[in-house]
Amino acid sequence: MSKSIAIIGGGLGGLSSAIRLARMGFKVKLFENNETVGGKMNEIRLGSCRFDSGPSLITMPFVIDELFEFAGYQRRSFLEFQPIEPICRYFFHDGTIFDASSDRKLMSEHIGQLTAGDIKAFEKFFNYSKRIYDRTADIFLFSPVHELKHMLKWKYLPTLLKFYQIDPFRTVNKAVRSFFTDERLIQIFNRYSTYNGSNPFRAPATLNIIPYVENGLGGFYIMGGIYRLVEALQTIAKQLGVEIFLSSHVEKIFSNKNVVQGILVNGERVNADYVICNADVVTSYNDLIDGYPQIRKRMNKLEPSLSGLVFFWGINERHVLLKHHNILFSADYEKEFKQIFDDLKAPDNPTIYIAITSKKDKNHAPKDWENWFVLLNMPYLHQQQNWKVIAEKMKNIVITRLLEIGIDIRSKIREEKIMSPEDFYTLYKSNKGSIYGISSNSPAMAFKRPANRDRNIKGLYFASGSVHPGGGVPLVMLSGKLTAELILENEH
Ligand SMILES: Cc1cc2nc3c(=O)[nH]c(=O)nc-3n(C[C@H](O)[C@H](O)[C@H](O)COP(=O)(O)OP(=O)(O)OC[C@H]3O[C@@H](n4cnc5c(N)ncnc54)[C@H](O)[C@@H]3O)c2cc1C
Repeated sequence: MSKSIAIIGGGLGGLSSAIRLARMGFKVKLFENNETVGGKMNEIRLGSCRFDSGPSLITMPFVIDELFEFAGYQRRSFLEFQPIEPICRYFFHDGTIFDASSDRKLMSEHIGQLTAGDIKAFEKFFNYSKRIYDRTADIFLFSPVHELKHMLKWKYLPTLLKFYQIDPFRTVNKAVRSFFTDERLIQIFNRYSTYNGSNPFRAPATLNIIPYVENGLGGFYIMGGIYRLVEALQTIAKQLGVEIFLSSHVEKIFSNKNVVQGILVNGERVNADYVICNADVVTSYNDLIDGYPQIRKRMNKLEPSLSGLVFFWGINERHVLLKHHNILFSADYEKEFKQIFDDLKAPDNPTIYIAITSKKDKNHAPKDWENWFVLLNMPYLHQQQNWKVIAEKMKNIVITRLLEIGIDIRSKIREEKIMSPEDFYTLYKSNKGSIYGISSNSPAMAFKRPANRDRNIKGLYFASGSVHPGGGVPLVMLSGKLTAELILENEH
């Protein structure tokens, strides 16, 4: 008889592991607290505007393709990936506008228009970033790094022996500065650390892998909206026999003599041979698992990633100056991160990210309107703060900054919804409202980040952005893959 799996949470980690385990022949039940699956990758509608409420950029699309293939489906028959070009339009305080491209020739040309001397620096930086990817991806992204048996492979020896080559001992900012002279380019390449919610002034330069992931492997949008991915995964999961229970709050994970027994859902006990927790690992140790005080203490010491403040605005005007992805940089990036990560307060002068899917999908907003997703980096929840007041203040800052680049939206916001760090906690139970799990602000984080297989309770596994290999769409989906493979391995 096939073994039973109970999955807590229908985010990308939960759905990815569910599909794989069902395909492997396990009997899978997935319990999601909310009325829809997707977790942080979700969608909302305001009037006639439609928004993705989480991710706006897909990187490493081959991770998604591989899941579809594993499940026996063609990704192309479900989803159309569109390269985003320019990948992002940057606005600087000195008035410069810079279009970043994943076309290297074009990118070099644009860099040359800023500072001719940095064209060569970009080529060198790109090769350095690619080298980090080549050296680390297999071992730190595609393998369960906490499982000794998997790490003891000859092919990993060069990386482990030449650990310094993946640049773990200086910060992202230090490394970026050693290549570029132009402060604007330094700010652009420092920004990539925020893709997994980290601070470029503290995170190890190994995170300089991310520019290669975006500029070398490409950044994509999914036509119709990023949420189409969740819908496709849900369809496939159901077709493979996964039973999905919505509005199902898991209250406890049961174990007996350190062996998992099942879960308590809406007051009812569900027995299972394995439990996969897609819910945040720290929240799970705080709320769902009894006992293990030392582990709980250790988990709560891990530094959470960035959180965010999101404005969803239906704007009844179109703006040709803005592209699909836009960044209005803060004037002092170091101060912004100091305020967020050290002072744990909203920055005075935040970097503003604006994504507009109606540039590609016209039906996401009425004619002559645009759907703006405006994201500001924020600290994780630290103490009682009035997010209504902070949001109002931030809204005024965004409007004022937009006026500086000639865009006046004061009378154009016709639809509005706001999501704060508190909402990320309330809706998805993210530890302290963090949106990428645990930050990578120290060199040892790849090892300190909790493992996919729980060391204390046999049969308990974790698949989410809060565990190995980390946050962001492709990594979370890999987390689901690693977890499913570890369970299969345990059966043999
Ligand atoms: C605003 C924003 C922008 C982002 N932008 C990008 C981007 O552009 N590119 C990118 O790659 N990534 C981006 N991310 C990050 C990405 O969305 C996440 O890394 C990823 O979606 C997390 O997936 P997950 O499965 O780990 O967790 P989640 O999506 O949080 O899923 C966990 C699920 O578990 C459920 N759950 C929790 N506790 C329980 C319980 N007790 N019982 C039942 N269910 C429970 C939750 O409701 C949730 O559905 C962004 C995130 C946000 C919020």
